[in-house]
Amino acid sequence: MDRQVDLVIIGAGPAGMAAALYGSRAGLSTVMIDASAPGGKLLKTYQIENYPGVGTVSGPDLAMQMYQQSIAFGAEFLYGEVVEVTQDKKVRLADGTVLEAKAVIIGTGAREKEMGIPNEAEAIGHGESFCAVCDGAFFRNKDVVVIGGGNSALEEAQFLTRFASHVTIVIRRDVFRGSVKAQKEVEENEKISVIYHHIPKEVVLTDGKVSGIVLENVQTKEQQTLACQGIFPFIGQVPETSFVKDLGILNERGYVIANEQLETAVKEIYVAGDCKEKDLRQVVTATADGVIAATNAFHAITGM
Ligand code: NDP
Repeated sequence: MDRQVDLVIIGAGPAGMAAALYGSRAGLSTVMIDASAPGGKLLKTYQIENYPGVGTVSGPDLAMQMYQQSIAFGAEFLYGEVVEVTQDKKVRLADGTVLEAKAVIIGTGAREKEMGIPNEAEAIGHGESFCAVCDGAFFRNKDVVVIGGGNSALEEAQFLTRFASHVTIVIRRDVFRGSVKAQKEVEENEKISVIYHHIPKEVVLTDGKVSGIVLENVQTKEQQTLACQGIFPFIGQVPETSFVKDLGILNERGYVIANEQLETAVKEIYVAGDCKEKDLRQVVTATADGVIAATNAFHAITGM
């Protein structure tokens, strides 16, 4: 028989962990599922200095503290990959397990977008990476290119200068999208230079490893090849929501649509964190979402 649970939370990043804390502390039987270790993007973040109340903290340390607090009131962490959620809130995992929930919170976040250019598939894991914290040390004394000008690109470029001999940031406009503070730090870092008005066109491989990248000037269409041993694209995110694609709750870009109560169009299915359609994606907004979603799930389940 399928297992019955009050609240199933899919994703154990900041949004999911905050939801687990509030759900279990309110007395709901709560299961939080993730295909990876709990922590989500925190595990890939070197340092966080804008989560109120904790000063400057390493991403993995904050993840560990959040996780311990999230299970302290009885929430269970279940390791597994969710492949489907049905209208009647049956949550099916890849190993065949099915959980029947009274409410579901989707908190699966988003992953880094690929560039979609020739040779990229071969380059991933052979010089192309999406996580400076995880892979930066492989690029000691090497030349590295970061694509994109958002906060992820600026912060990861800054982090990569701990290892790389030089980091070149490539952006397609002449302005960054990231915060003024992150821009200032990049501008002041002697190991970082910026190429404006260019987009990536092709990864160059030598003996199966990244040896350069072809860039195109968006104005003149002129191309140049930049020699490098590492490429880190941070050009935005793709939400991890394919397991709810048939529920009619996604926008055209795959983000989950919800109201202020974080209710989706399917009753008792909620969303929290980066996979939600919204403007500001931060750890603090993810945890706030988790809390709101879990509280509304509690009201819906108990009628209180
Ligand atoms: P963003 O969407 O903020 O930035 C993406 C960057 O990639 C932009 O510079 C964009 O250029 C560029 N880009 C997009 N598509 C392409 C393409 N096809 N080719 C070349 N360049 C491209 O994504 P992030 O991942 O940086 O951030 C996601 C969210 O997370 C944001 O809300 C961000 O603020 C937040 N975040 C916050 C952090 C913090 O507060 N410390 C840390 C990291 C992320 P253009 O500007 O021209 O569109």
